[in-house]
Amino acid sequence: MICNKCGIDGNFIWDETYRGNTGKYRLYDLNMERPHECSGMKTEASIEEPILDKPLVKCPKCDPLKDSAWIKREKFQEHIKTAHLGFW
Ligand SMILES: [Zn+2]
Ligand SMILES: [Zn+2]
Repeated sequence: MICNKCGIDGNFIWDETYRGNTGKYRLYDLNMERPHECSGMKTEASIEEPILDKPLVKCPKCDPLKDSAWIKREKFQEHIKTAHLGFW
């Protein structure tokens, strides 16, 4: 039987006990003697900042009320160097 989630062909059966308890379908791996876990599927979502949603970062050293405090992310390091560190 081929798992239709990850495409792995294994010695699977539908886990009827699990379905009876939870109402969800799950494959049981007879070779491994444990419930099948889809490999190649990322169960843990990688925690990344939504960079695309926020292309601008706020400069902590600029006046927060000014629009110029918002710097493009790729320019931020440069901005800190040129606009702040250089004059201290
Ligand atoms: Zn699978
Ligand atoms: Zn600044």
